[in-house]
Amino acid sequence: MSCDYDLFVIGGGSGGVRASRLAAQTGACVAIAEEYGFGGTCVIRGCIPKKLFVYASHYTEDFEDAAGYGWTIPTPHFDWNTLVANKNKEIARLEGLYRQNVKAAGVEIIMDRAVFEDEHTIRLVKENRTVTAKHILIATGGRPSRDTGGAPGAEHCITSNEAFYLEKFPRRIVIAGGGYIAVEFAHIFHGLGAEVTLLYRGPKILRGFDENMRDALTDSMSARGIRVVVDRVLKRIDKRDGEVFAFTDKDEMIETDDVMLAIGRVPNTADMGLNKIGLKLGKRGRVEVDKYSRTNIEHIYAIGDVTDRMALTPVAIHEAMSFVKTVFDGVPTPVDHTFVPTAVFSQPEIGTVGMTEHSALAHGHAIDVYKSSFRPLKNTLSGRDERALFKLIVDSKDNRVLGCHIFGPEAAEIVQIVAVAMKMGATKADFDATIALHPSVAEELVTMRIKSYSKNG
Ligand code: FAD
Ligand code: NDP
Repeated sequence: MSCDYDLFVIGGGSGGVRASRLAAQTGACVAIAEEYGFGGTCVIRGCIPKKLFVYASHYTEDFEDAAGYGWTIPTPHFDWNTLVANKNKEIARLEGLYRQNVKAAGVEIIMDRAVFEDEHTIRLVKENRTVTAKHILIATGGRPSRDTGGAPGAEHCITSNEAFYLEKFPRRIVIAGGGYIAVEFAHIFHGLGAEVTLLYRGPKILRGFDENMRDALTDSMSARGIRVVVDRVLKRIDKRDGEVFAFTDKDEMIETDDVMLAIGRVPNTADMGLNKIGLKLGKRGRVEVDKYSRTNIEHIYAIGDVTDRMALTPVAIHEAMSFVKTVFDGVPTPVDHTFVPTAVFSQPEIGTVGMTEHSALAHGHAIDVYKSSFRPLKNTLSGRDERALFKLIVDSKDNRVLGCHIFGPEAAEIVQIVAVAMKMGATKADFDATIALHPSVAEELVTMRIKSYSKNG
């Protein structure tokens, strides 16, 4: 059949941008529709502005630590509006760069909402016209969930989307959730001077992470003065005279300035005509795909958060590259979700790659566990009473390192590099044969000689 485009990409986020550029570079005729801004969640309302806020919130600790190193610092003052304005400027610059790169690759940019008219036809909502494409890629990402289970007053709550643009800094904030966003924003707001209460519905935050990391972080949050309240959900939220009152299911009332919902994200598949074309959706409306990111309709693919596989920017980019190799380079390339490093940008950070102790055992591995807890050198003169925790999970049979988990300064930076070694199949013996870089925090990885314990799956 003859179509307007070889490929039409819906969504100009991390995945969509990469796929459109790479496909165009193969000589394909490509268009991309974006309804809000190029770069998507990561650039505009996710990773990048979040990390800028993380940097901002670190200064409190740095100012405190400086005294032990001989510095006298006049009482520092933080201005929220300056931070937001500077962040907005940087995000606008990045958005422009993303748009420019897409254009330079020869992709046609359409600033509009795109929905399906039929299997090969896309309707551009604002422009009110249709276009056709041989292949269509759904890369529409996700949005914050507001599903509190019907708590009255949930409309008074903010989500991460609004947290990036608050006109007034909240002196007190209640954050509901116990995942990445809840934990990171708890540290951001706390570091910037807010009184933070984190309400989590389960017994321990960061479900899915290594148990020791979860415990170490929870202890550190409490020690820093972040109130972590577990086994609680929001029951009602009232707003009176600019003040917000959060009620829990245990009938506690917390007076606060803002309540932030960080209770997960929902794939963006609503009102896109997907039912009309018979596209198969899964739990919470995610697009169901196979290992090549192909949907149940042969020429329609989906990548990134909308597929709810692993909601991380580099994963969306990897899925985009695999899609282009499969469809436009003619090399069937399944996505590879093994050894994906990830970090929680708390203070200090959690960096992790590979299996947790629990998942290694669940997969039937017999394991040797190496653990080390120590006070980083920097914390000596500063007087900061905070310890780092390193943990390696090693396969007892073939000595391969199955998992690496770090709670400590620069954990994200360290784990990125460990991921390379692990992807190459590094064994504990390879770690041991590597000479340490001294003095560093990371050297602990190659100096853990004594096994802490062994377990059988
Ligand atoms: P998105 O980036 O969400 O892009 C989807 C795009 O599609 C959006 O621009 C949207 O406007 C557009 N769109 C939707 N529907 C339509 C339509 N019908 N027509 C046209 N356009 C449409 N990941 C990390 O790896 N590290 C981090 O530190 C990190 N921090 C995060 C912090 C926060 C607060 C959040 C919310 C997320 C964070 N993530 C992080 C996750 C990361 O942002 C996502 O995994 C990534 O952005 C997914 O990319 P995507 O291309 O699938 O979707
Ligand atoms: P997560 O899935 O990480 O966490 C959601 C949290 O909300 C969990 O603690 C969950 O509890 C809880 N929850 C879910 N539903 C409800 C409910 N109805 N009421 C109360 N609590 C609820 O999602 P986030 O929103 O934090 O982040 C979305 C994704 O974005 C992450 O999974 C991650 O992939 C990505 N991200 C990555 C970051 C990074 O790389 N540093 C940073 C931020 C986001 P339970 O565990 O019990 O299910």
